[in-house]
Amino acid sequence: MVFRQLFDSESSTYTYLIGDEATRHAVLIDPVFEQAERDLKLVAELDLTLTHVFDTHVHADHITASGVLRERTKATVVGGVGGARCADVHVHHGDEVRVGGLIFRVLATPGHTDDSVSYLLGDHVFTGDALLIRGNGRTDFQNGNARQLYDSLTRVLFALPDSTLVHPGHDYLGRTVTSIAEEKRYNPRVAGRSEEEFIHIMENLHLPKPRKIDIAVPANSACGDRVTAPQGA
Ligand code: FE
Repeated sequence: MVFRQLFDSESSTYTYLIGDEATRHAVLIDPVFEQAERDLKLVAELDLTLTHVFDTHVHADHITASGVLRERTKATVVGGVGGARCADVHVHHGDEVRVGGLIFRVLATPGHTDDSVSYLLGDHVFTGDALLIRGNGRTDFQNGNARQLYDSLTRVLFALPDSTLVHPGHDYLGRTVTSIAEEKRYNPRVAGRSEEEFIHIMENLHLPKPRKIDIAVPANSACGDRVTAPQGA
């Protein structure tokens, strides 16, 4: 498997380029609009063909490159059901998406947003903002729901084998990867916490509103087509 982790320093977003060695087919997971040229260059340099773009959810903090990448490569855009209306394929829990010979299994992991999905590939899981390293996505906008997220974390993601490597959508402290075992043990929001404790934590974070939310959410519903973004916002 070809595996590359890419970083957008403005939004602290991780993008993953995953390719099948045999067919050279590849997917970009959570690509960022401003980094589309960088990502396409790497795809070409590694002699890959971009057949898919996966978004883990409709992002509030950056604009997806899914639309521009689709335009340039004819890649199929995949997103969770109830999410970006522009996606070519809306996936449900248990669905499989094939990228060359690689088979990704979709896990519905709502709670950060109601359309959040994780993509499982063997012993790697791409969790978007559902599960972060020693943290998790906020639940106070975009139909976020702390109770639902607790369920996604403890019943869906923590049900994976302990050795599963977790590749998150962001990190703000320079960490790159974690595992299910580590998060079960050390995630301060979830480890040893009851559902009620988790909800209490999530309801008392008092985070500022994401700077780009008013532009990013409508734009991302259209796969990053900026024409739909409100003017002057
Ligand atoms: Fe997010």
